[in-house]
Amino acid sequence: MPYVVKVTRCKYPWFINVGSWIFKKFGIKLNRYIIDGVPLKPAIPIFEIECYKNDILRKIINELSKLISLATIVNFIKKCLNVKVFTYYSSIPDEIEDSLKALITGGLDGIIPDLEVNYEKLKDYGNIINICRSEVDKLCYLVTNLISLNELLAKFKQVYGVIVKSSYRLSKNILIDLKLKMYDSIGDHEFLIECCHLDITKSYIKNLQNLVNGVVISSFSNVVTLEIYESKMPNINRCINCQIDFVTHNQIKKCPYCGNKLTNLAKSGSEYKEYSPKEMKFICMEFMKEFKEDKLRIEFR
Ligand SMILES: [Zn+2]
Repeated sequence: MPYVVKVTRCKYPWFINVGSWIFKKFGIKLNRYIIDGVPLKPAIPIFEIECYKNDILRKIINELSKLISLATIVNFIKKCLNVKVFTYYSSIPDEIEDSLKALITGGLDGIIPDLEVNYEKLKDYGNIINICRSEVDKLCYLVTNLISLNELLAKFKQVYGVIVKSSYRLSKNILIDLKLKMYDSIGDHEFLIECCHLDITKSYIKNLQNLVNGVVISSFSNVVTLEIYESKMPNINRCINCQIDFVTHNQIKKCPYCGNKLTNLAKSGSEYKEYSPKEMKFICMEFMKEFKEDKLRIEFR
């Protein structure tokens, strides 16, 4: 009997499926899979694999929880605020290339080079954001904490935007005050705020609506729980019209409610194709256009 991987719980109302490429790394046969970038509700099976080594199953759970969490956190902010999402190079968990693929799939817009490393080889994985290092730098983001904000705004007049670091959550009033300070000093520029994993809750992120032009994520945590069990993966078909995922071991091609042609989400491993991070981001964006988080439900048949 093969094994099925399923996300049982998620901190947010949906998660982004990602990480199909790791099975090859572990030398595991992928029988069926949902393509990277698809937004799903918990309790949907996502991969069917052939594997009989418990230690490898443990590694898969660890690796997939991390990658799905990375894509989901970025996607959650994107969907709630529709703004730019960046992260620091130093905040990206190992293995860096796998993590970047997941982050970009979720919608990450750029990496802030806070450490001196060779960014040349990371260019395929995402945009490197220019940050101000000296007062003559133009069209760069000024990264500042609350204490240095006034002093740095007076010095750096030609910035493209301001990224405010803070060690605590900022209230709406403080955010308005900071934005006004920036406006008085350098005029209307992009205003971004740093958030750590503890800040990324529905209420705090909604608090930033219409106030920030972007969010910089400074740390990540796991936001999903995974389960692996012996089973066969059912067919999973989505009706975009009714926002229902039909999970069944039978064949179903049309929606029983509206007659719409269903989108098959569970692909055969024999047709597996690895996509580039940009392609996965595109797939995710296309699915997100149709995705209604409050409406989507799962129907087991
Ligand atoms: Zn339908």
